[in-house]
Amino acid sequence: MSISNTSLDEIKSRIDIEDVISDFVSLKRKGQNLWACCPFHDEKTPSFSVSPAKGIYKCFGCGKAGDAIEFIKEIEGLNYIEAMRYLAKKYGITLEEEETPELLAQQSLRESLFIVLGFARDYFHRLLLKETEGRSIGLSYFKERGYNEQVIKDFELGYSLDRWDGLLNEARENGFDIDTVEKAGLIIRKDGKTYDRFRGRVIFPIHNITGKVIAFGARTLKADKGAKYINSPETEVYQKSKVLYGLHQARHAIRQQDNCYLVEGYTDVISLHLSGVANVVASSGTSLTDQQINLIRRYTNNITVLFDGDAAGIKASLRGIDMILASGAHVRVVEFPQGEDPDSYSRKLGTDQFKSFLDSKHTDFITYKTQLFLSEASDDPIKRVETIKEVVRSIGKIPDALQRAVYIKQSSGQLEVDESLLIRELNKVQLQSSGGYQPPQNTVADILPEPKPRTAELPDTIARQERESIRLLLNYGDHVLEDGTRLHHYFFDELQEVVFKNDIYREILGLLKTELDDDGAVDTGRLLDKVSGKVKTEMIDLLSEQYEISNLWMDRFSIHVPTEKEILSEVVFSNLLRLKYRVVKQLIAENREELKMAGPEQQQQLLKVDVELKNSRNELARQLGIIVSD
Ligand code: ATP
Ligand code: MN
Repeated sequence: MSISNTSLDEIKSRIDIEDVISDFVSLKRKGQNLWACCPFHDEKTPSFSVSPAKGIYKCFGCGKAGDAIEFIKEIEGLNYIEAMRYLAKKYGITLEEEETPELLAQQSLRESLFIVLGFARDYFHRLLLKETEGRSIGLSYFKERGYNEQVIKDFELGYSLDRWDGLLNEARENGFDIDTVEKAGLIIRKDGKTYDRFRGRVIFPIHNITGKVIAFGARTLKADKGAKYINSPETEVYQKSKVLYGLHQARHAIRQQDNCYLVEGYTDVISLHLSGVANVVASSGTSLTDQQINLIRRYTNNITVLFDGDAAGIKASLRGIDMILASGAHVRVVEFPQGEDPDSYSRKLGTDQFKSFLDSKHTDFITYKTQLFLSEASDDPIKRVETIKEVVRSIGKIPDALQRAVYIKQSSGQLEVDESLLIRELNKVQLQSSGGYQPPQNTVADILPEPKPRTAELPDTIARQERESIRLLLNYGDHVLEDGTRLHHYFFDELQEVVFKNDIYREILGLLKTELDDDGAVDTGRLLDKVSGKVKTEMIDLLSEQYEISNLWMDRFSIHVPTEKEILSEVVFSNLLRLKYRVVKQLIAENREELKMAGPEQQQQLLKVDVELKNSRNELARQLGIIVSD
């Protein structure tokens, strides 16, 4: 069922973010904003801020940010509609629900699948604990693996009878529609026959975050028969790329420990629980996806990957880890001894020793990868070059410039290579991957010195400048500058010839411009309502990035730090200078490209243009305090 737009609008108009969040944490006012210890990560000093004026929250510790609806989704683990229901209830609003036939049908199919799957879970679980075959085969197998009652209960483990119609009959007797049982992935219909998918296996239910069973994994107990593990097929309620095994059981521990261990499968997850390590999930049966990474990042920004001790497997996993780096998470790895996996090794060492093994053996991923490649390269120069490229490629995935810089410095020591060389290599991979500047081919005579990759600007710098422009526009668009113009007018006038390169910032700029053209003003609240996904997150981030710090200084030490508002004209001016500087530099590069192709009389003209462009570039550089070399 969905909620009518009228009702949604009514809820939105009633939302008071301070009131909504106060139900979960106690907020204290400091300056314009309210502060608390963050409910999304462990901390002792408050870095979670709420701006009632803008209707948003942001934690400067863990980076979580959003509006009141997002807060409810996040803290209660709800989807959008469920969050709106929550808010409606809080404000005593009666909802007009819309019922379209398709929606109802889809909704009721999902509901019935959950019911069938829950029924199957109970059935398998009961067989394991109460029935003779289940106890003598399934339960004794789990006992052999060291599983205790607690984990069997927590993970709702089960057993499926060794026959073709165990579940089928049980479902029939209980009046379930066999079509639905099939849609839940529990039975197979083939060549006119209908039979159980899982037979004579121990059962690992797969849960969604809220703890509903959405699928099953099943391990055979016979050495010779078929695949060791089989899993439910994808269904209306199970898309394996969006699920992590064990997340439901692990989520509180992940948040508390501010770290998530990532392992291969069911048995690793359960063995770690048995060893007292509860913050663990598995990407069972698939290579890691972005959606899975984002699931983890709802709870922590730190991911520790546990590797089996086998070199081939490790190398195969490295690309997947680059994806985690690209998400902005901090990645560590623990490598297990040859022939051991987290399951076998935790059983071998026992709880205490295993825990200290994890604590003492975890290595930062970039450091680990560098060591791994270096140890293979030894003195082979070709392999050493490959090592450098590999390491730099991973560093290039990290979205944060400061972190990249730290890693470059550190790897330069490890690799015994000059930092500047690594930076040049890094610029190269980043430019290539952004489809931006390509090093010129040396075909035409060199009239002018070649523009070197080194002098091209990093896409990163560009994005940062664009980000700064958007931040200023969002936060101070209405502000009147020293010369009497409003900031947004001044900005758009001056910016005419600049095209933003970063997709997100270009989109926001376009939105702002449209709002301004239509209404003569920008209502950021309304704008936030129109956008979603990355654009929304970025806007919220930018909206919360005023100089919060100056307030803190004022409060704590009574020191007056000039607020950004007070020096706004200067800030805006220098941001515009930088953008213009970039445009002029690009024009110079383009002009030089043309020059290479030009005939003799055109050359004269183009060289003149080059001189003029260089003059304006130098003037801009002088104002910016930048030193230019050619
Ligand atoms: P053994 O007792 O022989 O070590 P195991 O049950 O521990 O067997 P492994 O072969 O060691 O299984 O595999 C480790 C993990 O990989 C298991 O926890 C399992 O979840 C996962 N796994 C292996 N094969 C599959 C598969 N085909 N589909 C999904 N997961 C699998
Ligand atoms: Mn195993």
